[in-house]
Order: sequence, then structure tokens, then C-alpha cells
Amino acid sequence: MTENISVLGLGLMGSALADALLSAGHHVTVWNRTPAKADPLIAKGAVRAATPAEAVEASPLVIACLLDYPSVHEVLQDTPLAGKTVANLTTGRPGEAREAASWAAERGADYVDGGIMAVPHMIAKPGALILYSGSSAAFERHEQAFAVMAEARYVGEDAGMAPLLDLAMLTGMYGQMAGFLEAAAMVTSAKYPLKEFTTDLLIPWLNAMAALQPDWAEKIETGDHSTEVSNLEINRAGMENLVRAFREQGVKPDLLLPMKTVIDQRTARGLAHEGLSGLVEELYN
Ligand code: NDP
Repeated sequence: MTENISVLGLGLMGSALADALLSAGHHVTVWNRTPAKADPLIAKGAVRAATPAEAVEASPLVIACLLDYPSVHEVLQDTPLAGKTVANLTTGRPGEAREAASWAAERGADYVDGGIMAVPHMIAKPGALILYSGSSAAFERHEQAFAVMAEARYVGEDAGMAPLLDLAMLTGMYGQMAGFLEAAAMVTSAKYPLKEFTTDLLIPWLNAMAALQPDWAEKIETGDHSTEVSNLEINRAGMENLVRAFREQGVKPDLLLPMKTVIDQRTARGLAHEGLSGLVEELYN
């Protein structure tokens, strides 16, 4: 079904989203603070709005993809939002998303927040995912249009949930990168070919370890941190050994040290018999 959709914010990501919607045959109205960035989309059939208000006026679905939440508020504040659906695909914090949902509700608009798990060139291609949270009615109303940009996954009525899960996924990524960078420093310090190590040894090992995570997730959800694999005492000694080996090799273990601190903290509480999943208990305030 063809929809009228307005896209506000035509940076790298907003342009890719608008392009995907246009290519799927939707009637797309665009607005950007720097008007020239709209030119390639206008050439493909998009309609240029002179102001954010004109863009909002044009369509029931208003997609915002701007730098941050303050810029979203700045752009949308004097627009006729009543009766519209705002899909805010700008990256932000869960609290900002909840505030934006209330702000939109006060103006009579439905609100969904989105967390984009893709870079611009992945948009409209397999592998791109956008998480949505907030109004389920609004999500269902526009699900087909959302699915044009990326796989659209709805994760709950709490508008903060999409950004929270987005940040949790980024956290997993940074943790994996931290491990990779330390391993790379160690391997290159010994002049072993890093690409060979990465493809032949590290990736299969990481995949095998990742396969254990659903089990860990269950342990964390039930609070049962017993283990038949390796307890915290073994991991404490292993981490001690790792850090010493790094230093002997002339490499700084800086990205590993925070994990060592938490392992030491947990074992000092007399919980050395637990598995590594128990470390999560040290992270709650
Ligand atoms: P860009 O820097 O390419 O674009 C930023 C956009 O925000 C531009 O349209 C810019 O307008 C606009 N903007 C900034 N400040 C204001 C303001 N005060 N008032 C009005 N417009 C403003 O960034 P991206 O397109 O890459 O990112 C946009 C959002 O998408 C961000 O929240 C980002 O985190 C998210 N995202 C991006 C990804 C990526 O890989 N690029 C991946 C996942 C999420 P102007 O052109 O006039 O400067």
C-alpha cells in the first residue's frame, strides 16, 4: 500500500531511509536544515518541504532522523503534530525516548521510537534491522512502510525499549571489540600473522563461546549461577595469568582490567564457586 511519508533529516542515514521509501513507491516529502541535501531525492521524485511544519502537514507518518533528541525537539516544536505518527529514528537514550513519547502525546501525536541496527548502505538490504517501541497501534499501522527500510522488529509499548536494546547490542559489540583488540595486540607483539589468527582461530572460538550465551542468559534470569564448566576461582587465576602474560609480552591489558576487577570483587565476597554469569550481580547498583 502506498503511503504519504515525510522524512525530516537528510544526513547519511535519513537520505538512505527516504531513498528506500521512494524506491518502494511511497509518496515522500522531505525536509532538511541544509536544503541542498534534498536535491538527489527531489531528482528521484520526492517533494521538497520549505519548513518542518510543511513536511509534517504533508503526511500522516513523520520520520525524524536527526543528530540527537534536542534537534528533534527543535525541528518539531512548531509543527502541527496532532493526529500524526512520529517515528523518531534518531539515536538516543531510553529516558530521552520516554520524554519524547510524552511530549508527542501532549501534542496529540502517536509516537514510536526506533533504534537503527545498520549503517546507511545496509538500508533496504537483508541484514538491516530497526527496533521499534512505543505505540503498538502506530507500529502496526505503518509496519509495511517500516519494513521497506529494514526488518522492523517491535519490542514493546515502553518507548525507551528500542534505544535500550540498541545500546545493549552496541555494548555486546564493544565488549567483543575490546577482546579482539587485546588479542590483536598480543598476537602482533609476537609477530604471528593476525589475519590468519583472526579467521582460523579467533572467529570459530568466539562463535563457540557465543553459543553458550543463551544458557548464561537463563542463569541470569533465574539467579542460579552454579556451574559445571568453570568456576570463578579458575577464572580469577586465569585472568591473573592473562594479565601477567600480557605484561611479560610488553602489551598493556587495559581493556581486560575492568573485567578482572569485577571477578576479584565477586570472589572476595566468597562466591568463587559460582560461574562467570554471577558477575552480572556486581553490575546492579
Ligand atoms: P549526519 O551527520 O549525516 O546527519 C545529521 C542530520 O541531522 C542532518 O540532516 C543535519 O542537518 C541534522 N541536524 C543536526 N543538527 C540539527 C539541528 N539542530 N536542527 C536541524 N537539523 C539538524 O548523521 P546520520 O544521518 O548518519 O545520523 C542521523 C541519526 O541516525 C543519528 O541519530 C545517528 O546516530 C543515527 N544512526 C546513524 C547510523 C549511521 O551509520 N550513519 C547508524 C545508526 C543510527 P544538516 O544537513 O543541515 O547538517
